[in-house]
This record gives sequence, C-alpha cells and structure tokens, in this order.
Amino acid sequence: METRNWIGGEWSTPGSGETQVRNPSAIGETVGTLRLSSGKEVLQAVEAARRVGRIWSKMTGAARGECLYRMALLLERSAESVAQLASSEMGKPIVEMRGEVARGVQLLRYYAAEGVRSDGDVIPSAQSNVLQYAKRFPLGVVALITPWNFPVAIPIWKLAPALICGNTVVWKPAEFASLTAAKLAELFADAGLPPGTINLVIGKGRLLGKALLEECGIDALSFTGSTATGLAIGAACAARNIKFQTEMGGKNAAVVLKDARVSTAVQAVLSGAYRSAGQKCTATSRIIVENAIYDEFVQELAAETLKLQVRHALDEKAYLGPVASEEQYRSVHAYAESARTDGKIIATAAAPDSGEGYYIAPLLVEGVGAEHALVREEIFGPIAVVQRAADIDEAIDLANRSVFGLSASVFTANLTNAFRFLEEMEAGMVRVNQETAGVEYQAPFGGMKGSSSHTREQGQSALDFYSALKTCSIQYG
Ligand code: NAD
Repeated sequence: METRNWIGGEWSTPGSGETQVRNPSAIGETVGTLRLSSGKEVLQAVEAARRVGRIWSKMTGAARGECLYRMALLLERSAESVAQLASSEMGKPIVEMRGEVARGVQLLRYYAAEGVRSDGDVIPSAQSNVLQYAKRFPLGVVALITPWNFPVAIPIWKLAPALICGNTVVWKPAEFASLTAAKLAELFADAGLPPGTINLVIGKGRLLGKALLEECGIDALSFTGSTATGLAIGAACAARNIKFQTEMGGKNAAVVLKDARVSTAVQAVLSGAYRSAGQKCTATSRIIVENAIYDEFVQELAAETLKLQVRHALDEKAYLGPVASEEQYRSVHAYAESARTDGKIIATAAAPDSGEGYYIAPLLVEGVGAEHALVREEIFGPIAVVQRAADIDEAIDLANRSVFGLSASVFTANLTNAFRFLEEMEAGMVRVNQETAGVEYQAPFGGMKGSSSHTREQGQSALDFYSALKTCSIQYG
C-alpha cells in the first residue's frame, strides 16, 4: 500500500518525499509507503474542485444523496480491510476501529438522507403577496484538514455534510493516517461522484496548509487537530474572511461524587482514560473525586487499571494498543516520566516492551498540584490524574479550571447534582453517569473555551457550517 493523491478524478504519486510507515504495534513491520506532495498539487486540487463545483452544486439533493448511499455501501463492504489497515497504521485496537468504520457508514447514510430533507424555512412576510424564505446554498470549495486519531470517522463527519450541502472538497489527512485516507479515496472513487468532487492531497501539514491558506481561493475550511495548529489556521482564515471551524484539544474531567455507583463510574472512567491509549480529544484526563468516596473509588479503579490488556492493536483482546507514532511516544513518555518524578503512581499495567512498538504503560497518578502540567496540559496518552475535592462546589470549580472545554462527566445518583453539573460545566459535551468520550453522529459535537471555534460538527449543526443561508423574497401579486 502506498499513498497517492486523487485530484480531479486522476491518481498521481506525490514526489516530494518518501518514508516507510511503521506499524506502531510492531515497529519492525512496514505497513506501506508514505509519499508526500508539494504545494503545487494543492493548487491543482482546488482548481479541480472549483471546476466540478458547477456540476455538483446543481445536482439535486436526492442525486447527491444517492452518491453518499453508494459511498456508505462501498465502505461497509470493505469495512474489515479498512479497519485492519487503520489499526496497523495508527495503533487503535481493532475492536474499536471496527466500531469507528461502522460509524463512518452511519454518518454517510445520515447525511445522504439530508438530500431529501428540508433545506430552508418559509418565513411569513409583513407584506401581502410576498413569499419569503431562507434557503441553504453551498459555500463552494471546502478544505478539510483532519487528524490521525479518528482516521475514518472524522474525515467522514466532515466530507458527508460538506458534500450533501453541494460543496466540493479538498481533503488533507494527517501524515500518520494517510494510508487509510488513500484507501477511503479508492473506495469512494467507485461511488459515481463527478471526478474532482472529492480531492485528496497527501503531505506535511505546514507545507500544504500554507498552500491551502495563502495560495488558493478556498471558500471555507474545517480543521480538527491540536490547539496550536488550530489557532494559527483560524487566524489565517479570519484574515481572509473565509468561513472556518476548528475543533481542537481537550483536558476532560470526570467528576465522581459521593453518591456515585462505584462500579459504573470505575468502568466508565477506565474506558474514557485508557481506550485508544488516551488519544481521543474527549479522553478522560482528570478524575476529580469527592473526599467521602475517594479511598473506595481510587482503590477499585487502581485494581481495574492493573488488569488492563495492553497489546498489539490487531489482538482482539487489546483494551489499548500503542500510541500512534514515535513523535507521540516521545511526548507521552515525557509526561509519564514527570508523573513518576513529581507525583505518586497509584497503578499501572503491564505493557509490551517499547523496543517492540510505541507502548506506554497506562498510569493512574495522584499527588500533583492544580498548576502542574499533568493537570493543565493535554497529554493525549494513557495517563490520568486523580484529584481530591471536598464537595461538589470544589469539584465543579476544579473541573472548570482549564483553558479547554470539550467534554466532562459526572457520576452521581442525585438528580439535583446532575443538573447542576450539566448547567455549570464549561464544556460542549456534558454527560451524567457516562464516560467523557463517546458521541452520537446525530447530535451536535464540539467544544467551548479553547477547544473550539464555537461552531459544531455532526448532527444538523454540520449543515449550518457547510452552507450559507440566503434570505429570498418574491413579490407575486
Ligand atoms: P495536529 O494539529 O498536529 O494535526 C492535525 C492536522 O493538521 C494534520 O492533518 C496536520 O498535517 C495538519 N497541520 C499541521 N500543521 C499545519 C499547518 N501549519 N497548517 C495546516 N495544517 C497543518 O494534530 P494531530 O496530532 O493530528 O491530532 C491530535 C490533536 O487533535 C489533539 O490535540 C486532539 O485533541 C485533537 N482532536 C480534536 C478533536 C475535536 O473534535 N475537538 C478530535 C480529534 C482530535
């Protein structure tokens, strides 16, 4: 397998650089070849998208929807091979990866159906014989920049609403998910979309991002990735006054109150903190526990952490696999070292040797102050910090002490406390008796504060981003 660009319906081999993609679960194994593009291909992709936009945007929603239904079918038929490739490329356990591919199919079908749903509202006019309505129109050429941690679901939750709204797309996936992206493009090539409706360009973010943002006439941009990159991209889009959305990092808290059902809370916190090796934007990174239940909860959580199965991502029993890349390994390893030096390790689990793959043993840590980097920064690895709170007031205060505001959970049997948490948490996704990670495609998704540009993805909200509303008025009397 090797990466290829797909521009204007033609395949081409990028020629600016080549590296072997190592399997993060077994770094001696090569998964494929990553070939990178220069900025020139980005210009070609935007031109191709612009040309075909005249056709795609004029097709009926029903016809565009049929294309999305075919994309869903093609993905469904190749689900296992896509899941295996993605697991091998970025280390997500195969069981989770299958779920992610299935989610991609659901997203395509959900947005396919939008092709025959209402795309506007009739608004009564104050004048007689006037029909006034607001209708969605496509934005034009939309650039999609995606991360590696959800290599299938995130690209599709951008592609599908962008396409159904009548936009054409230039997609730049993360380097560490480019084999999976090329595979998706190969599948979608048979879905009957006019050539150039979806264009894929593989390459380094900085280089291709510069071309996209400074040299091409894109009409909108949707980005998911780190906060540092997102803020720079947002500033560049704002300077050009194009529509943009940036979904960025998180430092998500799970709050366990004294009346929580301990077994439910333990399993949800474990899953939120350690599945996908903590590499979810919505992963549980801080666990805030009310004093009265602290010892009981932490003891049970520690016992369960010890049992976690850290294995090769293709092993059906893997609870977590390795982290995705050498870069990730170095970054998370540094946080693990600081947890060992500055905090107290409550529990860990056995992990394969880091010489075999990019394995980081999961860590449950306590004893670090609220200003410590482990409590403030996004770690994006299998490390969770436990903090003690005197009561719900202090728990909410601690949970809100973050520049991020993506997701948060509370565990409680008390309805008043649950509603108070839902109201007072400064986060875009707030949940009761459920893990911080986990989203449903038909509901809006996104963060508050430093986690987002404050638009929403998925559900009906995505249609708001990928379209412009025109208010139309006809005097017919
Ligand atoms: P990243 O910012 O390094 O890269 C994301 C994408 O941006 C990649 O395609 C990359 O090539 C590209 N990129 C990098 N520099 C660029 C530049 N200067 N111009 C244009 N594009 C550029 O992020 P990552 O490491 O791939 O992903 C992990 C991050 O993503 C974490 O911070 C995580 O929280 C975040 N994330 C957020 C969400 C969300 O919905 N909020 C979901 C998943 C991941």
